[in-house]
Amino acid sequence: MTLTPEGAASFAELVTSELGEGVASTDPDLIQKCSSDWSRMSPILQEKLPPGRYPADLVVRPTTPEQVPTFLRLAYDRDVPVVPRGAGTGNYGQATPFTGGAVLDLRALDKVTEIGDGFVTAQAGAKLTVIDAAVRDAGHDLWMFPSTKGSTIGGFIAGGSAGTGTVERGTTADGFVTAMTIAPCDGSGRSFRVEGADTIPYIHTYGVTGIATELTVRTDPARHWVAVYAAFADYGRAIAVHRSLPDLAVLPRLASLDEPGLVATLPAPIELDATRTSLRMILEVSTVEEVSRRVVAAGGEVVAVFDDYAATDKLSSMSYNHPVYFLQQSGYPCFHLEVGGTALWDAPDLIRTVYPNAMVHVELRTMGPLGMYVADYESEDQVLGGFAALEELGVGIHSPHQWMVDRHVAEALAISPITDPKGLLNQLKLDRDGVVPARIDTRNEALVARTPVH
Ligand SMILES: Cc1cc2nc3c(=O)[nH]c(=O)nc-3n(C[C@H](O)[C@H](O)[C@H](O)COP(=O)(O)OP(=O)(O)OC[C@H]3O[C@@H](n4cnc5c(N)ncnc54)[C@H](O)[C@@H]3O)c2cc1C
Repeated sequence: MTLTPEGAASFAELVTSELGEGVASTDPDLIQKCSSDWSRMSPILQEKLPPGRYPADLVVRPTTPEQVPTFLRLAYDRDVPVVPRGAGTGNYGQATPFTGGAVLDLRALDKVTEIGDGFVTAQAGAKLTVIDAAVRDAGHDLWMFPSTKGSTIGGFIAGGSAGTGTVERGTTADGFVTAMTIAPCDGSGRSFRVEGADTIPYIHTYGVTGIATELTVRTDPARHWVAVYAAFADYGRAIAVHRSLPDLAVLPRLASLDEPGLVATLPAPIELDATRTSLRMILEVSTVEEVSRRVVAAGGEVVAVFDDYAATDKLSSMSYNHPVYFLQQSGYPCFHLEVGGTALWDAPDLIRTVYPNAMVHVELRTMGPLGMYVADYESEDQVLGGFAALEELGVGIHSPHQWMVDRHVAEALAISPITDPKGLLNQLKLDRDGVVPARIDTRNEALVARTPVH
């Protein structure tokens, strides 16, 4: 329930007295900054969740993992809603404090605590850039990281799903996470550890089942990665190379493909030809020659090869949602859908007919491509109205235009009555009536309308 200004001040005082000076703040500027995320990438969510519409009442910034369960005990005792937050780059509005309360900003928990053989353990607020640099120094590769590499490991596991490394290692729910320390909101003031399959209720469930304070994720022995840029006169030839890559002796770390309409706004280190389809790959060094041969055989051109790790990061920062983001930055009024299925390779002309000026950005996975479908934006009805036609053509859709937990819902519903019996964690993201939210969730508004007025 939203706090009164007096209630917020009194709760901030309580948090300060238990956890120390500087941990709790009611500063309006800080509250404003911490109360919205990157949902602005969706024109639909931009309208529904403009900055300032759903402010928290205070921001709490723990400096040690132990402070998190203590804070949650206080929130539990006072019935204060809590929304966890990493870097706030989640783009579904899933960190919006609809019912006020406290935003729990975890970025000060930023330590990499252990690097071992095949794993790294880090506090939830550690940035993936920092974790990756640490594991590379120790001779390892993170299994995966998102194109928003400055985001936090806790936010990636609780709110993201895939990225550089997904070609070989799948999503965040495919064995990447081996252990998590979870602080529940059950009045206990204690944390517990989950391992293996027991981590699933905490993956991509937006913190509704508990707050991750420390996470252990898998690494591989470090490889020598090279950034390769190729260009093709037509999409079909680029696709022929893209879909051939899973048979390489060592899988690529990333293979991103954009048709010309998405190329002009990519901030590449070289000038990309915006009349050609761009294929950008992070390849293991021993496979560069073979892939270059395939590019040329398909009528394409290798336009640049950068043999340093920083260049592979640059290439990664143009993957997944980023081409859409760069197009939007140029002022183009578009929307996007997260899509998957071999139709992206097989029937691009057909799937482009569903929405006006549609374009595709494609990422490689061994089990088939996934990517972003981008088109001109008119209205929410227009966006929702095309889903069935795309699915009919074999395109799987994950909508980035709604904030409800839509993966591991059954697992979250099973565990949250134990870990969050009062339902204070990230309210209105999990439908506790037990109905698995439809992908097109028209109940978003209804749920928010039920919340107390500020
Ligand atoms: C341009 C762009 C590109 C992107 N590319 C990718 C990509 O390649 N792959 C991908 O998967 N995602 C991508 N994303 C989405 C997002 O950036 C990532 O998932 C990111 O890793 C989220 O981390 P964060 O620290 O910003 O989390 P936040 O946005 O702060 O939080 C994400 C969710 O997790 C919850 N949460 C945060 N920390 C914790 C915690 N410690 N315990 C429990 N719950 C917590 C929050 O309440 C929220 O619901 C992209 C987004 C944008 C805008």
